[in-house]
Amino acid sequence: MTMTAPAGLDVSAELTDGTHLIGGQWVPARGGETIDVINPATGDLLLRVPRGRAEDIDAAVRAAEDAFPAWRDTSPTVRAELLYRWADEISKHEQTLDQLESMEVGRPHWGPSPLPGMVTYFAGQADKLTGMTLPTHGPNTLAMTLREPYGVSGCIIPWNAPAPLMVADVAPAIAAGNTVVLKPAEDAPLTPLLLAKLAMAAGIPPGVINLVTGYGPEAGAALPLHPGVRRMSFTGSPETGGKVMEACAKNLIPLHLELGGKTPQIVFRDADLAKAVPAIVRSITLNTGQICAAGSRVLVEPGMRDDLVAAVSQEFGKVRVGPWYERVDMGPLINAKQERRVLGYLDIGREEGAEVVTGGHKLSGEKFDRGFFVEPTIFQRVTPDMRIAQEEIFGPVLSVIDYTDEAEALEIANGTKYGLTAAVWTSDVGRAVRLAKRVQAGQVYVNTTGFRGAIGSPWGGYKHSGFGRSMGVAALEEYTQIKTVIIDGDG
Ligand code: ADP
Repeated sequence: MTMTAPAGLDVSAELTDGTHLIGGQWVPARGGETIDVINPATGDLLLRVPRGRAEDIDAAVRAAEDAFPAWRDTSPTVRAELLYRWADEISKHEQTLDQLESMEVGRPHWGPSPLPGMVTYFAGQADKLTGMTLPTHGPNTLAMTLREPYGVSGCIIPWNAPAPLMVADVAPAIAAGNTVVLKPAEDAPLTPLLLAKLAMAAGIPPGVINLVTGYGPEAGAALPLHPGVRRMSFTGSPETGGKVMEACAKNLIPLHLELGGKTPQIVFRDADLAKAVPAIVRSITLNTGQICAAGSRVLVEPGMRDDLVAAVSQEFGKVRVGPWYERVDMGPLINAKQERRVLGYLDIGREEGAEVVTGGHKLSGEKFDRGFFVEPTIFQRVTPDMRIAQEEIFGPVLSVIDYTDEAEALEIANGTKYGLTAAVWTSDVGRAVRLAKRVQAGQVYVNTTGFRGAIGSPWGGYKHSGFGRSMGVAALEEYTQIKTVIIDGDG
């Protein structure tokens, strides 16, 4: 069996080797160096992208500054129209985008694309941003607030879901009249490059979306420090988020942070297990667990633990693992660093005294040897203080933790530094409501894990999972600043 990806998508026909987008031009890095982007299932080279550095970020920020006044002054109706056209281009290229993301992330097809709907959501909002009129002391005075864009917005995104994460930042930013410099992750910059190309094809003017590829400590670090950047958003690890926050502090600019998670799945005796079990399994195996909202902790009463673990374990057995282009449910981890991290946590879990129910190893064999494949793994008898119960693993590793009653379940659920999402599985409505109010998380799901079930639901974290909200009305507003105008008509 060949381990190369099927010939369905010729990446170099979609994107030009070694170029990124600055001021509407596809250009190489000023230093001329490139980074290899590889297929994590096979190790094959997909494309070379520029190794951008501070000088490339500087050029992109200048291009975004130049484009800003005209874009700010473009009628919001026209901005909306251009975003609708971008959504059309994305729809036309949906399969290509999906396949490209699979190739660079290693993820099998995960359902209908959310991208066109995400863009049209913000297109629809572009011409509905309003301010207020304010009461005044005198009859000849008029006072109002205006919502104005910041100017150049810097966005840094990770590799785990590059297309939705790019759209979640860029669409509200430009809908509100900002221009953008985006730095995608070095492991998965191809889908963002194609999305930027489609934005150009849709007629979004040059310089409104600029995209610089490069490594985090080089291109990424330069972006929040640039004096031309007026606002930042960052999605990624808490460690790097902290560094970006320090840079924003030096530059005195606002920041939106989307960081990690340790989602609890709190299961009660009265839960519908036929519904809960497949959802729990999908939540930790989707994208090979490399999702900040992955449901990595199952909280269960000891009396039902064995039944639940048996059912989850049986469902784990059905998860087909392999390269994305075969009929599989779970692909590889993104890179060797991530594989070391996940295998390290498997060792830590054993050393801490947790019990492996299923999985626990790297996968080997012809199909797996060139990629970063690990077994989906369940640990039980995990205690809340163990590292595998506290730290984000970013892999398909589920920790089953016992609780004695609802109060303790809540305490365990809230007992990590994170607070991104949480799920409650019960048929008791009162309990569901109580927990939904008390769980510290930006999104709480009752008898579901599906954030795609709602349209425009604000997305973001409590505690160390970050601050600010992407998606929803709040996202567009976050990309604006409020100006008060007072007009004195006397004299
Ligand atoms: P990971 O360790 O999984 O790659 P990161 O949070 O480090 O996760 O990466 C998320 C994004 O942050 C990527 O685009 C990466 O290039 C970028 N990045 C990494 N280090 C820095 C940094 N020091 N400053 C700004 N961006 C960075």
